[in-house]
Amino acid sequence: PKSKLPLIGTNIFTVMSNYANQHGAVNLSQGFPDYQPSPILIELVSEAMKKGFNQYAPMAGYLLLREEIAKKYENLYGANYDVNDEITITAGGSEAVFSVISSMIHAGDEVIIFEPAFDLYRPIIELFGGIVKPIILKGPDFTINWDEVKKLISPQTKMIVLNNPNNPATTTLKEQDFKILADIVRDSNILLLSDEVYEHIVFDGQPFWSITKFPELKDRTFVVASFGKLFHITGWKVGYVLAPKELTSELRKIHQFNVFCVNAPAQIAIAEFLKRKEEYLHLPQFFQQKRDFLTQGLETTPFKVIKPEGSYFLLADYSEISDLPDNEFAFWLTEKFKVATIPISAFYQESPDQKLVRFCFAKKEETMAKAIENLNKC
Ligand code: GLN
Repeated sequence: PKSKLPLIGTNIFTVMSNYANQHGAVNLSQGFPDYQPSPILIELVSEAMKKGFNQYAPMAGYLLLREEIAKKYENLYGANYDVNDEITITAGGSEAVFSVISSMIHAGDEVIIFEPAFDLYRPIIELFGGIVKPIILKGPDFTINWDEVKKLISPQTKMIVLNNPNNPATTTLKEQDFKILADIVRDSNILLLSDEVYEHIVFDGQPFWSITKFPELKDRTFVVASFGKLFHITGWKVGYVLAPKELTSELRKIHQFNVFCVNAPAQIAIAEFLKRKEEYLHLPQFFQQKRDFLTQGLETTPFKVIKPEGSYFLLADYSEISDLPDNEFAFWLTEKFKVATIPISAFYQESPDQKLVRFCFAKKEETMAKAIENLNKC
């Protein structure tokens, strides 16, 4: 059959995780924790099952959960979302992004993305006939030149996709970025998709600037978030979308025919667990320790770490080890030194020449210690 995505193969995270398993390598490639979530959360989900939450959840998600989410945004960011019309529980961040893009993008619409970009934005935009307009950011800083963004905007620009904290650039957007962005989009109908799945995971005492803190931007924005990252449960596949009523109503038309609704007992458990603020407020400290552990370890190897501002990834330069392109280097490193990473070129359509690979540090210290031991032989 004629492929709908002719240039796309199996995604890099699946490929590298499989390759790690095949070669018995420490897997620091795909982003997922290798430790257990809170036992309380596990208890809550089995209680929910025993109480009978085993059938379809409401299409938009349980009200209980939507209420807890609304409270969180009000308390943390001063942002009000209507529990009935502006919050939709999705099957993780990926379904959220899929439903947002597919409900908004018509053939010929232009969408601005920043590359390196998480791998699913571009194919979904293209699947629905959208035209991707990338802004190319380069390491080590991946700084956004907003003048470039301004110049790229045309009458066809339908949406700008933001990812904050950014995977894989590990940068964060600051108050100033949002002020400039507000100036840029003010007199337009441009929509924003703000992928905030690494919410809270920001280091060195910096605040997290959710786009929801900026009322002017909030009104044109779909916010995507993920409980997988918040509570170390990527396999539960529960996330959500926040958006103004008219946008949410279009989004739900797609969501209802895509997954219809999301895992019922998990939603009930998460609603209860969200009341425990310390579970997410301690994430900066929790992940900063892991970031520092891996960074210090890598400093004993020939890798040069780019200090991450946020997310649970770090990028490291391997040019002292090899001249191979990053893709070949990642396979070679997995085979020879038994550590799997993600080559940064996977996040660009046309990658600049950068000798960078991405390591995930949402891992037990013993896992990272084993990786460092292996890499010390490089
Ligand atoms: N978000 C994860 C990462 O960047 C991967 C998600 C996936 O495998 N699709 O590693």
